[in-house]
Amino acid sequence: MSTLPEPASGRNEAKAARDTGSMRTRYKRVLSFCLHYWMLSPPLFFGILSARIASTLVDVAVPVSAGFLIDAIANGSRDNPGPAFRALALFIGLGATFAISRQLVTFLLNRLSGQSIAAIGRDSFRKVQRFSADWHANSFAGATVRKITRGMTSFDTFTDTLAFGLLPSFIVMVGVSAVFFYRWPVLGVIMAVSIVIYLTVVITMSVRYVRPANVEAREWDSKMAGALADSITGNAVVKSFAAEEREDAMFESVSGNWKWRAIRSWDRSAISGIVQALMLMALQTALLGTGVWLWSQGQATAGGIASLVATQFLINGYLREIGQQVRTVQRTVNDMDDVLDFRDATMQVADAADASPLQIGKGRIEFDKVDFRYSGQSKALYENFSLVIPAGQRVGLVGPSGAGKSTFVKLIQRLYDVQGGVISIDGQDIAKVTQSSLRQAVGLVPQEPVLFHRSIAENIAYGRPDATRAQIEEAARLAHVDLFVNNLPKGYDTLVGERGVKLSGGERQRVAIARAILAQTPILILDEATSSLDSVSELYIRSAIERLSTDRTTIVIAHRLSTIQRLDRILVFEDGRIVEDGDHAQLMQCKDGVYKKLLETQLQSGEIVQAAE
Ligand code: ATP
Repeated sequence: MSTLPEPASGRNEAKAARDTGSMRTRYKRVLSFCLHYWMLSPPLFFGILSARIASTLVDVAVPVSAGFLIDAIANGSRDNPGPAFRALALFIGLGATFAISRQLVTFLLNRLSGQSIAAIGRDSFRKVQRFSADWHANSFAGATVRKITRGMTSFDTFTDTLAFGLLPSFIVMVGVSAVFFYRWPVLGVIMAVSIVIYLTVVITMSVRYVRPANVEAREWDSKMAGALADSITGNAVVKSFAAEEREDAMFESVSGNWKWRAIRSWDRSAISGIVQALMLMALQTALLGTGVWLWSQGQATAGGIASLVATQFLINGYLREIGQQVRTVQRTVNDMDDVLDFRDATMQVADAADASPLQIGKGRIEFDKVDFRYSGQSKALYENFSLVIPAGQRVGLVGPSGAGKSTFVKLIQRLYDVQGGVISIDGQDIAKVTQSSLRQAVGLVPQEPVLFHRSIAENIAYGRPDATRAQIEEAARLAHVDLFVNNLPKGYDTLVGERGVKLSGGERQRVAIARAILAQTPILILDEATSSLDSVSELYIRSAIERLSTDRTTIVIAHRLSTIQRLDRILVFEDGRIVEDGDHAQLMQCKDGVYKKLLETQLQSGEIVQAAE
């Protein structure tokens, strides 16, 4: 069992913090997050707040003015309609002020929400893009996309619910209680007590009864999205194995699990709604019953009762929504969790605080007593691993699958942090230089090149966006991309499809080679770069690589040994160790050597007939 420290996983750290965090901590976290984005424009934020408070106070005053109108009519005379018209003017004026100020809130909020949501999307994207290769390997791309978009829409819903729901509801409750206390103290007491009971029941039901079901349904919602994305992304494999029905069954099982949890969560919301409706009916009975009793005692006028009925409708409208709003707040707080986790996650591979740009020279690479283990693996891949690749040397890596060749080049790009020892380039510890400067110095043609759904020219220029068209076409010619591009109707402007699906594996690889040629980095890594090419293209590419690798440190990983025979040095990997080290001629002299045996096997199988010739 290895004694290396457990590699850090930012995602798990953030998740653990979330699981153990109390409700209050979570709400605080979400509030401070939202406040940050609301305050991107303080004038807008405070404008909305003032307009909202003013419009709600006006709303509370409307029923009172309705009472004045009724009293003015009941007590006035037709010969002197002035007081009635004044009361009417007040009633209409208040109604109009409410409508206008509410629309003002909407217009201001549209602006604030638009800029805040765009900023949340931008910040989450920025963070997720910089998460380590390990994080991306362990996350479903589809689920990550959904988490970010869900976080953005949840922020929007949360803001709307506060601005149009909870904040005005709170103002109405306080305002109405105050008006009642002033006019009929007994109704004020009934109102205040009822509000406390109502809120206690509604919030308790939402938190303890509805929310747990919501959370579970949401988790299965993410799983369903992840399963869908995984299967659709791998559709080519599904087709090649005619596994549509198997995938159907897998998805049906996931969606079946989601279905029951979703139904339970919706049912609980409905039951909670029924309880609220019953409590509101009880409140209505108590208020109106007491109102009529006050009238019978001569303590309330007809206008007073009319304003009571109108106020009753007003608070009913606001309180009826409160249960739904509390649940919406809870759901959106939960839904923002993932985006908050992204924001708070520690970068698994982070730039050091005092990181400076790599001063790249000729590209000398050194591994000094390096220890490395993948997270989740019990055994270390490299232990006390030391190696020097002099500047400009062209090195081939061979060895059985899983020996650690790809990991070796990933460590050079610092896609993972090592747990012990130092990897340095031109004498500088790569953990102490900025990642962007490091990766700009290392060109890569990966095992499975990923292209963007952009034009071929844009894909080639990805490592050097300022390249001219002539430079792009020259790199394309060197990598023999021109051979197939010339047959495409739109040539270099052809879009390649998602992940480059519209090109063959060999064509994709040639585009990736052209991209590396154009980037002109001092260090070049070719990971199985010629594995998808036919023998003729491979010969062309090999000559291009030879030209390309002159005066550059080049590392070539290849299964076909013909690719690397002419390199300066060949390293044979086995179980994370180098078991043979020398050029082709030296390794061929090792009796029973691994390299010699591998080569003989490939010659016998005809795999590298070209090289034998
Ligand atoms: P191949 O020739 O098949 O590409 P390789 O020699 O390049 O193999 P690596 O890809 O470096 O081998 O893998 C070395 C070991 O590390 C393997 O056992 C592999 O399963 C493991 N490994 C690789 N990537 C990860 C990862 N992201 N998480 C956990 N283990 C990994």
